[in-house]
Amino acid sequence: MSLTNHDIIEATVFRRRLHAMPEISGEESETAEAVAACVAETKPDRLITGLGGTGVAVIYDSGAPGPTVLFRAELDALPIEETGVPAYRSTIPGKGHMCGHDGHMAILTVLARHFGRERPALGKVVLLFQPAEETGAGAAAVIADPLFAELAPDYCFSLHNFPSLPLGHVWLKEGTANCASRGLKITLTGRTAHASMPETGISPMPAMAMLMPALTALSQGSIIGDDLILLTVTHAVIGEPAFGIAPGRAELWVTLRTMTDDTMQALVERAEAMVSRVAGECGLGHAFEYHDVFQHSRNDAEAVAILRAAMDAEGIVHETGEALRASEDFGRFGAVSRSAMFFLGAGETTPALHNPNYDFPDDLIPIGARIFIRTARDLLGRRNQS
Ligand SMILES: [Zn+2]
Ligand SMILES: [Zn+2]
Repeated sequence: MSLTNHDIIEATVFRRRLHAMPEISGEESETAEAVAACVAETKPDRLITGLGGTGVAVIYDSGAPGPTVLFRAELDALPIEETGVPAYRSTIPGKGHMCGHDGHMAILTVLARHFGRERPALGKVVLLFQPAEETGAGAAAVIADPLFAELAPDYCFSLHNFPSLPLGHVWLKEGTANCASRGLKITLTGRTAHASMPETGISPMPAMAMLMPALTALSQGSIIGDDLILLTVTHAVIGEPAFGIAPGRAELWVTLRTMTDDTMQALVERAEAMVSRVAGECGLGHAFEYHDVFQHSRNDAEAVAILRAAMDAEGIVHETGEALRASEDFGRFGAVSRSAMFFLGAGETTPALHNPNYDFPDDLIPIGARIFIRTARDLLGRRNQS
């Protein structure tokens, strides 16, 4: 394999550069620029920018008919202040690459160098740097972009680094890999009053006191039984921070999480019916808003088999894991291609994802790159070098 130490060193330097300049979902313009400049050096056959917002896609075309194989990384960082102290720590206050997307991008730049030198024998390789994964908006925006229809990938692959799993080990399963989830913001509206005469107003307090435990109690099932339903109250606010006012308005934020999109639909109906009933009984108006909507992420059996064969050939330890409760917008690619995502161990003692001192382990760059390059070669062959 024409993967060189130089490729890995360059990708590591690039990873650290990205780590120092984090941008959050939807604002990844400088990151996209840096990525586009980096991959342009490899002289791809096509470079698309502005895909679904700030997305970048780079294409290495054999010129021969054959499948299109897409590998996805994410451009975005998080609104989290970095507390770790690497030399390349975040230079942007309040923002940090605490999900390791800097490492995923670095891995794809290794593929860019490789396929820049050596095109596949058949079909095309597409490297996609997707915006706004953390909010669940990016994959949908990329897929809705008319330019994506031109790419028409047959297979889509992605990886996510995963703390608590031994470094370089892989978790991979068929079927649901990540849960569906969405944020439900409930607004209850009554009538504010003087705190000395609360009977002249309509307080949302009794409804809030009922709904917080009642919504939580809709939770049931488990990941192992493949029937998880989980409701988590994440935020609540009622009235104003004042002793003289009886509250007339409240907000309740709840995250809904299920193993499948169908179960999510049923849960949404149950939760909304409960809120409507309680609000009605308490004489309150109510409204619903949904945020950070993620579909469940489902791995195609054939795509999983292709990844497993590549891992075997590369001597990578892989096992079948449970689905993750966390959500991932890569699931959207499953609707338009055969897709699979795997989790790449970041080490058992590494801080958890989204912890303020998380830092992607550079040792994963060559491992991830080898798995992806082997996957592409297995599907598209290798051009004979003369
Ligand atoms: Zn994340
Ligand atoms: Zn992530």
